[in-house]
Amino acid sequence: MRRSSNKAFSRDGKRPVSKGGRTSKRQRRRAIVARRKAERDRAAQEIADRKHSWCNRLNEGGLAVDRGRLAPDNSYGVPNFVARGYYLNLPFACKDCGKQEVWNARQQKWWYEVAKGGVWTTAVRCRPCRRQERERREEARRVHLDGLAHKRANR
Ligand SMILES: [Zn+2]
Repeated sequence: MRRSSNKAFSRDGKRPVSKGGRTSKRQRRRAIVARRKAERDRAAQEIADRKHSWCNRLNEGGLAVDRGRLAPDNSYGVPNFVARGYYLNLPFACKDCGKQEVWNARQQKWWYEVAKGGVWTTAVRCRPCRRQERERREEARRVHLDGLAHKRANR
């Protein structure tokens, strides 16, 4: 039985074929050892890759979610960060000015677990636009309340 892989071994010059061009037991043994080594190397590489992705995860935030501290939620779905179990830095474009921003893991943890923000809410505005929006809302509310007071006074 001839196997093409044996030819490749002979061509690279490192593992010459035995007399007659047939594979010896020793060569077959070497091939098995080499294959096992390749498998071990691949497994080691996979572990290294996984470790690396863990490092990336930490770089991207990687702050653990404390589910017990989240605001209660009655919907059937589970938000991504809850399913994942940790917060990631999230890039987003500001809704008002379009500026590229990052809502980082620490800010998310504070928002969901301390401020008890709804688990389906996410950052949509950059900081200056958020402040502006808050002022606008406060002003609108003040005008509204003034209007009500005015109506009552004129009744
Ligand atoms: Zn903005």
